[in-house]
Amino acid sequence: MNQRIQIVGQGIAGSMLAWQCEREGVDFRVVDRGHATSASRVGAGLVSPLTGKRLVPTWRFSDWRDEVLAIYRELESELNVPLVREMRIRRYFRDQTQRELFEKRREKPEVARWVESFDYEGLWLHGALQVETGTLIAALRERWLVTGQLVEGSFEATTEGPVIWCLGANAMPIDGIPWQPSRGELITGELPRLAEDVILNDGKWLLPIPGGRVRVGSTFDRKNLEVRCTEEGIRELTEAAARLAGRPIAHVRGDAGLRVTVPDHRPVAGWTDDSHSIGVFAGLAAKGALWAPALARQWVADGLAGTELEPEVTVTRFD
Ligand SMILES: Cc1cc2nc3c(=O)[nH]c(=O)nc-3n(C[C@H](O)[C@H](O)[C@H](O)COP(=O)(O)OP(=O)(O)OC[C@H]3O[C@@H](n4cnc5c(N)ncnc54)[C@H](O)[C@@H]3O)c2cc1C
Repeated sequence: MNQRIQIVGQGIAGSMLAWQCEREGVDFRVVDRGHATSASRVGAGLVSPLTGKRLVPTWRFSDWRDEVLAIYRELESELNVPLVREMRIRRYFRDQTQRELFEKRREKPEVARWVESFDYEGLWLHGALQVETGTLIAALRERWLVTGQLVEGSFEATTEGPVIWCLGANAMPIDGIPWQPSRGELITGELPRLAEDVILNDGKWLLPIPGGRVRVGSTFDRKNLEVRCTEEGIRELTEAAARLAGRPIAHVRGDAGLRVTVPDHRPVAGWTDDSHSIGVFAGLAAKGALWAPALARQWVADGLAGTELEPEVTVTRFD
């Protein structure tokens, strides 16, 4: 594509899309109104083989995990900041039902491959990642402000070229996509002497970060979409930290953000029109750290050339 691509929104979706454009020599410009509402600044960046209460294999984890790790490693050396850690997960069963569910799932190759061991209390998973998405978007922001490829402010429609909307849970000027936003909270605090490469999870997760600190998350609320922490959320997560670590967390600070999904829980990526003038890249739910880099590569390799992205993510599935 010879025209300049206008990318609106520089969360993890817009950042990865712009970075792939830069790599492939595609002319681009990013516009962001300042990151105050960016979920990528708040999110914990966990990439896990299994998802949620029902221990569902994460869509595309096995296919994309190694590619995504290589992309983050490349970005680390390019930007000279630590971005990604390889982690293990200690996942506790909540109850007998979840234990039985895992018994059924564990024979599936896409699950078995990531299970290190299991016992009555829970299982050990390997292969998980943790990505500092906030650090990543901040480093790319600095770089593109210097080169003039990032403009901070509101997007002004011009006739300059195609626009790809990467607005996360913020209102998208595109009709017909059944967005489902939800608010999530997490806390950060001090809880020293935990193994730094192990995420503890019993429905809530506890992520050790260097320096004897932890992040604990997250809450899920589809009704109250005001981007701020609640007393109830902080209390719930403080209790979860004590339960998971066996001792209390100190100096707690809370953060909140909005994630967005659609009813089939797949991302939304591709052109919305036959003339390829308006595109979208969003619906990354709580999987932005895994889905954004891999889909951005597809967007630039295939989407910009006019080939549809894989059917499970295209906008045309809502027609
Ligand atoms: C509490 C919490 C925990 C999470 N944990 C994880 C996790 O462990 N792992 C994981 O993978 N994901 C996690 N997520 C989800 C993850 O944060 C999202 O998948 C991801 O950040 C979405 O990225 P995005 O680029 O689509 O949207 P965003 O990061 O929200 O970026 C959208 C950007 O668009 C800009 N913008 C909006 N409107 C305009 C406009 N009109 N003009 C210009 N710019 C505009 C905003 O400033 C923002 O920078 C979590 C989310 C939350 C809230």
